[in-house]
Amino acid sequence: MSDTPGDGKLELKQASKEVKESENVAEKYSAMTVSKNSEITMGELSVSSAAFSAVPIHKPVKKQIQFVEDKQEFSRFPTKTGRRSLSRSISQSSTDSYGSAASYTDSSDDETSPRDKTQLNSKGTSDFCVKNIKQAEFGRREIEIAEQDMSALISLRKRAQGEKPLAGAKIVGCTHITAQTAVLIETLVALGAQCRWTACNIYSTQNEVAAALSEIGVAVFAWKGESEDDFWWCIDKCVNMEGWQPNMILDDGGDLTHWVYKKYPNVFKKIRGIVEESVTGVHRLYQLSKAGKLCVPAMNVNDSVTKQKFDNLYCCRESILDGLKRTTDVMFGGKQVVVCGYGEVGKGCTAALKAMGSIVYVTEIDPICALQACMDGFRVVKLNEVIRQVDVIITCTGNKNVVTRDQLDRMKNGSIVCNMGHSNTEIDVASLRTPELTWERVRSQVDHVIWPDGKRVILLAEGRLLNLSCSTVPTFVLSITATTQALALIELYNAPEGRYKQDVYLLPKKMDEYVASLHLPTFDAHLTELSDEQAKYLGLNKNGPFKPNYYRY
Ligand code: NAD
Repeated sequence: MSDTPGDGKLELKQASKEVKESENVAEKYSAMTVSKNSEITMGELSVSSAAFSAVPIHKPVKKQIQFVEDKQEFSRFPTKTGRRSLSRSISQSSTDSYGSAASYTDSSDDETSPRDKTQLNSKGTSDFCVKNIKQAEFGRREIEIAEQDMSALISLRKRAQGEKPLAGAKIVGCTHITAQTAVLIETLVALGAQCRWTACNIYSTQNEVAAALSEIGVAVFAWKGESEDDFWWCIDKCVNMEGWQPNMILDDGGDLTHWVYKKYPNVFKKIRGIVEESVTGVHRLYQLSKAGKLCVPAMNVNDSVTKQKFDNLYCCRESILDGLKRTTDVMFGGKQVVVCGYGEVGKGCTAALKAMGSIVYVTEIDPICALQACMDGFRVVKLNEVIRQVDVIITCTGNKNVVTRDQLDRMKNGSIVCNMGHSNTEIDVASLRTPELTWERVRSQVDHVIWPDGKRVILLAEGRLLNLSCSTVPTFVLSITATTQALALIELYNAPEGRYKQDVYLLPKKMDEYVASLHLPTFDAHLTELSDEQAKYLGLNKNGPFKPNYYRY
């Protein structure tokens, strides 16, 4: 198949005819390049699939699975209050709130639990449980706004048109339920899937979006402000449905996967694969794999390049400023800020703060990252060297006790301390809960911790992720992750038996490249195409993959 601009509007359907059975679906979908005029066009498909097939990876598991073996039951008799009776707490990610998900229609005056209501959508269906189905119209507008910055998913819908690569797929999903996720869910439906969905976080559901999805027939069980008992009840309602058994899982945090393992292990006989987005969930999958208990293939979306580089770096570059500004109204110019950790998240935070005129210091344990920070123009220091002078401390290491009580004692009056890393252990918040210190809640997610001499340190989100707790996350970045999730589902669902074993896989490189290429038209970006001579010289196929798996970007 030629690659000329003239072929730019070839349908996926046509292209698929030329895909050999041995080639994976990711290849088929990603056999597209962005031509000079930025139209996505179908390219040649001549590279052997082994060159870019999904890579099983065996990373050391950093964390213990949080699951315990004890029995988990949700209350089968809902009451209006007090459903917090579970012996096992839900995952960290399920309690970190997600700022972009702030529901504009949070009807806190309506105290009735959705579990106690009977609601029907306009088609007379009641297979859902949301706060208020009447909010559907408003939710639809939210989804339409999100669609504007998620054109890659919309283009996937157009490209698949009659083909429906997810026909027959029964996907059970557990993610944040936001306008952006709704665009993903509706894309999966447009590609042929049936979906049942629940929230991976008890605070993050946009009620009106949940209503809009229920209105079009997606079985959503989620609302903002669920109790832990509600949380498991909702997951159970998604999985435990008479006459409907899922064959794919899309998870964010691993709670859904865990529930199926514990309660409905037989369901795995039909499951073709799990797609997992979060660091925590991915660690859990590796643990299962290591223990020989993973019984289906799983795709690790978290570690794909398009997630790592865009979510961690670019998302944090924008949301660090948003989170700090909303909570503290701080002026960034001239402020002395120390960023702990110069990985992807640290690089994003420092770049944004530097651009705003802050004086930025970096702490690092790794000489390579420390050298990068130096070359980028930051002073690399030990935290103790600057602790008395800095105005803001931001942790983004993924480590624990990076800021200790001793250091908090030495911070100056009015300084701000917050965390952008996954876990709330980076700042030793527990050490601040001692009788001599007074805590004063001054705003939502903002505490003043007051020392006996009157010194105040401003602690944000109690040391949990600042941006997920207090700000919004750019839709465009979520689009990149959502597109990756959609392609991972398509790949696992369509893969012939034997292609993927009971292991954890990274997405094929070509799929990452395809996800990126789908987002280029937004910027009217024009890719240069390799000439035959150049391709030969570099030993590449003209349509990619363009980098080996070990390339670091
Ligand atoms: P990374 O591994 O690339 O970077 C972390 C850096 O911290 C490393 O360079 C490491 O050497 C350094 N480090 C470790 N311990 C340290 C210490 N005691 N002092 C100073 N530096 C130390 O990871 P990343 O992708 O930058 O992610 C960092 C954290 O942020 C992770 O917990 C990740 O899950 C989380 N994360 C948050 C968001 C968000 O939206 N807030 C997005 C993605 C990832």
